[in-house]
Amino acid sequence: MNRGTLYIVTAPSGCGKGTILENAADKHGLVYSVSATTRAPRTGEIDGVHYFFKSREDFEEMIKNDDFLEYAEYCGNFYGTPRDAVEKLIEEGKDVLLEIEVQGAMKVMDKLPQAVTLFILPPSVRELKRRLLKRGTEAAEVVEERVKKAICEIPFAKHFDFVIINDDINNAIRDFDACIIAAKHLRKCHGKDIDNKITEVLENE
Ligand code: 5GP
Repeated sequence: MNRGTLYIVTAPSGCGKGTILENAADKHGLVYSVSATTRAPRTGEIDGVHYFFKSREDFEEMIKNDDFLEYAEYCGNFYGTPRDAVEKLIEEGKDVLLEIEVQGAMKVMDKLPQAVTLFILPPSVRELKRRLLKRGTEAAEVVEERVKKAICEIPFAKHFDFVIINDDINNAIRDFDACIIAAKHLRKCHGKDIDNKITEVLENE
């Protein structure tokens, strides 16, 4: 059976990724990887569905046990991708969606260069701040901290395969969809793959 594809999506908080990702997951049968976090659940968030909510001690224990494919600290909380769950899904041929911040995304790119990477940009920092304040899930000082974080994250977009600008949600959904379709059709060549491919081309004189 063919192994599944890993899609890494990074979008600074407030980029409106939720709707874009739900649409892509539905349309392309992508399976969300559920991360572990030390952040407190927001209203409506369910343990095991949105995140595995962990104490700091439990999270540190998981780090010690090498349970994470990657983990990072973001605005004072830990977030991590459980390694076994992702590997099992990929092995089963499922296409998996990792929705993670920049540091984690860069680590996974390093370990798994065959992953397809997408970055969702807000149209501006001002708009991002407006959306975060309107969402109202975080206190004003947390919004400030997330905006600062976004300003640091945005330049990393250049390391991703695809960059989508969410200035209009319907356009962003369409663009994201086009990227997934392109990624499915274009076989990505990286590292050893490209060496093998070049050898194969040269050998067939
Ligand atoms: P939030 O608190 O808004 O749910 O998430 C904060 C940030 O953590 C978001 O940028 C989200 O993409 C990121 N995040 C969620 N899960 C993970 C994870 O497993 N690893 C890393 N590195 N970042 C994550």
